[in-house]
Amino acid sequence: MAATTITEAVVLRSFPFGEADRVLHVYTAASGRQGAIAKGVRRTKSRFGGRLEPFSHVELGLHRGRGELGTVTGASLVRSHDRIRSDGYRLQVGLIGLEAMLKLYTEEEQSSRAFLALTRFLDALDEREPQPGRRPALDPVVLSFQLKLLWLSGFLPHLSSCVECGEADGLVAFLPSAGGAVCAACDTGGIPLSQDGLNGLAGLVGAPIADAPGLGLGDRAAREALGVVTSSYEYHGGFRLRTLSA
Ligand SMILES: [Zn+2]
Repeated sequence: MAATTITEAVVLRSFPFGEADRVLHVYTAASGRQGAIAKGVRRTKSRFGGRLEPFSHVELGLHRGRGELGTVTGASLVRSHDRIRSDGYRLQVGLIGLEAMLKLYTEEEQSSRAFLALTRFLDALDEREPQPGRRPALDPVVLSFQLKLLWLSGFLPHLSSCVECGEADGLVAFLPSAGGAVCAACDTGGIPLSQDGLNGLAGLVGAPIADAPGLGLGDRAAREALGVVTSSYEYHGGFRLRTLSA
């Protein structure tokens, strides 16, 4: 059944197709992850070529025919997010967020909360000043975003008490197989967590994404938060992010 819908969407990935087209992977407000073909978009006279880059937040007209790919019938910018593309640090942080969306949301399934988290992540990243000497993967904005995606996906580890015995104090490690933090008595070779790391994780999970830079996350706490994120991906999703290995 053919139908044309207009929905807000963020372009997650784009690659050339044929002579002048592009295939886009977008995350839409109306129905989650979708594939779409933008015809003639690589011609200089294209009506909407420049609006369909990765990170672009657009209002998208999509015509759905029988095939898996929709066809883009129109695009108007909601936010260009040019500031993300114009700086190497912001770009690397942003690509981690887009890859997390691509890996966690593979199906066409509506989630207004995931769409909202994505747009808030991009808005917060527009405002982020480059952090010389910091690994993009340790940026609090993208750590906070990924922890929120894990929560929305049902993969967020339990971190406020020992997942094995319930003890609230003396947590020392994260055990991916148990899905949470453990105390010394229950630790069977988990990833060590410091008190700073536990506090940092609680802050990153609880605060709005835009407030993450103000949490004062130290380097060690950020590395531990990243360890929780990557091991949750590996254990629950069976994947790694290419952008996180850089
Ligand atoms: Zn325990």
